[in-house]
Amino acid sequence: MKEFDYIIIGGGCAGLSLAYELEIHEKLKDKTLAIIEPREEYKKDKTWSFWKVASHNFEDCVKKSWENFTVNIPKKTNHLECASYPYQSIDSGLFYEKINNKLKENKNISFFKDISEINSTNSFIFNSVPSIKKNHRNLWQHFCGVEIETQNFFFDDEIFNLMDFDCDQRESVHFFYTLPYSKTKGLVETTWLSKMNDSSQKDYDNQIKDYLENHLNLKNYKITYKEEGAIPLFYPTYEETKNKINIGTAGGMTRLSTGYTFLNIQEHSKYICNNIENISKIKRFEINKKYQFLDDVFLRVLDKHPEKMPDIFFKMFKSSPKTIIKFLSNKSNYFEDLSIIFKMPKIAFIKALFY
Ligand SMILES: Cc1cc2nc3c(=O)[nH]c(=O)nc-3n(C[C@H](O)[C@H](O)[C@H](O)COP(=O)(O)OP(=O)(O)OC[C@H]3O[C@@H](n4cnc5c(N)ncnc54)[C@H](O)[C@@H]3O)c2cc1C
Repeated sequence: MKEFDYIIIGGGCAGLSLAYELEIHEKLKDKTLAIIEPREEYKKDKTWSFWKVASHNFEDCVKKSWENFTVNIPKKTNHLECASYPYQSIDSGLFYEKINNKLKENKNISFFKDISEINSTNSFIFNSVPSIKKNHRNLWQHFCGVEIETQNFFFDDEIFNLMDFDCDQRESVHFFYTLPYSKTKGLVETTWLSKMNDSSQKDYDNQIKDYLENHLNLKNYKITYKEEGAIPLFYPTYEETKNKINIGTAGGMTRLSTGYTFLNIQEHSKYICNNIENISKIKRFEINKKYQFLDDVFLRVLDKHPEKMPDIFFKMFKSSPKTIIKFLSNKSNYFEDLSIIFKMPKIAFIKALFY
C-alpha cells in the first residue's frame, strides 16, 4: 500500500485550510500528502462568519462584509459599529472550490475515502475528526439557518443582527441571527445554547417560520438554502501522540463561549506550516489559557442561570465594540479583559468559580 509523508484526516474546513497553506508555501514540493475525506462531492454546506481581526487566505470567498451590527433583548436594541474589524461571511462552496482547484495542480497530493486504503504507519497525521464521548452535561451551540429571497426590498444590508433574544427562551438560551446579503436576500438562523436534551428546541423550521412571519412580519419569501449544525462547547478528547496533531474542532480551535472557530483554524494552519520541518517537536497550539478559563466560568454561569444570559450578553456589548470584538476573537489585552469582566454580574460569576 502507498505511503505518504503527511496524512490529513477529514477534508473539511481545517483539513483543506491546512493543505492549502502548505501548498501555497511550497511545503509539498518534495513531500507527499494524502487527504482522507469520505464525502462524495463538495458543495456549499456552511457559512463561516467572523470578525476579521487577522488576515486569511480566503478574501475571494467572502460573500459579504459588514461594518455595523445590532444586539437585541425585548424592547432594547444596541447599535454597534465594527469598521476596524469588519464582520465577514465566507461561502463554503467557494472555499471548497478554490482549495480543491489549487490542490489538483500538485501530483504529490492525493485524496482517499478511507484511511485503510493507504499505509499510515510512518506518516505524520493531522486529524480533524473529533472524538466526542456522550455526556449529558455537555453544552452545545445548535442551530438551523435558512437563506431566503424576498419579493420586495426587505433587508437593510448595511447592518447585520448578531443576536436577537426577543424570542421564546424555554428555560434555555435562544436567539436569532440575521445576515442580510442584499436588500432581498439574507440568512436567518435560530440558535440555542443548551445540552440538547429538549427535543422541542429542534423544531427549527417552525421557529424560523414564526420569526419571519410573525416577528419580522415578512409574508412573501422563498427558502433557497438551509444549513444545520451543532458546535460542541467543550473540548473533544485529545490523545497526545508523537506523530499526530489534532486540528479544527477536534484540535480545540473552537472558542467555547461563542462557537467561533474559522479564524482560529487559519492561525493554527499558519503555525503548522511555519513549523512543518520540525513538526513532531513543536509545542501544541492552543487558544490562550486565559480565554479557556474565562469561557469555562462564563459557561458555568450560562448553565446555572440561562434566564440571565440575554441581559448578560446585552451588557457585554455595552463595552466599546472594538474591545468586545477583540475579546471574543482572542486578541484582547488584560486591560480590555478587565473592562469586559467588570460589565458582568459579579455575584453570579464569583459563585461560578466554586460550582
Ligand atoms: C453549520 C455550521 C456553521 C458554522 N458556522 C461558523 C461560523 O459562522 N463561524 C465560525 O467561526 N465557526 C462556525 N462553525 C464552526 C466551525 O468553524 C466549523 O464546524 C468548521 O467546519 C470546523 O472545521 P473542521 O475541519 O474541524 O470540521 P469539518 O469542517 O466538519 O471537517 C471535518 C471533515 O471530516 C470528514 N469526516 C467525517 N468523518 C470522517 C472519517 N471517519 N474519516 C475521514 N474524514 C471524516 C467530514 O466529511 C468533514 O469534511 C460552524 C459549524 C457548523 C456545523
